Amino acid sequence: MAFEITNDMLVGSLMPVVVYWVYGGFYTILGYTCNNYRLHPKADEDEKNFASKETVIKGVLWQQFRQFIVTNLLYMMTKGNDTGASSGQSTSLIVIARQFAVAMFVFDTYQYFLHRYLHQNKFLYKHLHSKHHRLVVSYPFGAIYSHPIEGFLFDILGGSLAIYLSGMSPRTSAFFSSFANMKSVDDHCGLLLPGNPFHIFFTNNTAYHDLHHQLYGGKYNFSQPFFSIWDKILGTYMPYSLEKREEGGFHLRPVKECKD
Ligand SMILES: [Zn+2]
Ligand SMILES: [Zn+2]
Repeated sequence: MAFEITNDMLVGSLMPVVVYWVYGGFYTILGYTCNNYRLHPKADEDEKNFASKETVIKGVLWQQFRQFIVTNLLYMMTKGNDTGASSGQSTSLIVIARQFAVAMFVFDTYQYFLHRYLHQNKFLYKHLHSKHHRLVVSYPFGAIYSHPIEGFLFDILGGSLAIYLSGMSPRTSAFFSSFANMKSVDDHCGLLLPGNPFHIFFTNNTAYHDLHHQLYGGKYNFSQPFFSIWDKILGTYMPYSLEKREEGGFHLRPVKECKD
């Protein structure tokens, strides 16, 4: 095993971090101005959340530091799935599309079952997953705010598994991880802006995940970050309706009764 960090490895581990903060920052600024598209009034952030913005920013930066170390160790151990771009050859678009499809399926499947178990097991919920749920009105940059062990299990292990099993090169994985980060930030942005492609192409989107973050939503909509297939197959899918608020923005309601 050669302990060498190549440019592709650096891009693979740093680009998703840059995308996370740029996209999260963009939504944070919009959150102050787009009152008519908010899922929750701005004041609710301070009233309903159990973690401040500063705490969340620090927690996410530490998580990304750990992710950077582990991702590069994994690249070294697997020699970066050295099949295409990293060996100087160009990988065809069809191969990249197939790798994306496999990685999305692996990541979604892994995350659904782990996420659901972290809610069902009261000990694990209390000590691990409840940290992410301190955000009832999520901040865009709070997408990966979680307990370090949960962060390792969800994002580091799940992401690495998806990248490894799909056979992606570090360069392709930079785009996959950036895309997954953008999707997660979008799911936590709290804004329903018209024309958002994520909301057009995915039923699993901001409103879908926002329902899960509400105090009544802990038994529904576990699927993340891409599709809602596993929720639909396994009966944890909760559809929602949206009504306009008088004071601006939307009010989200589950269409069925949520059981405790
Ligand atoms: Zn949850
Ligand atoms: Zn969340």
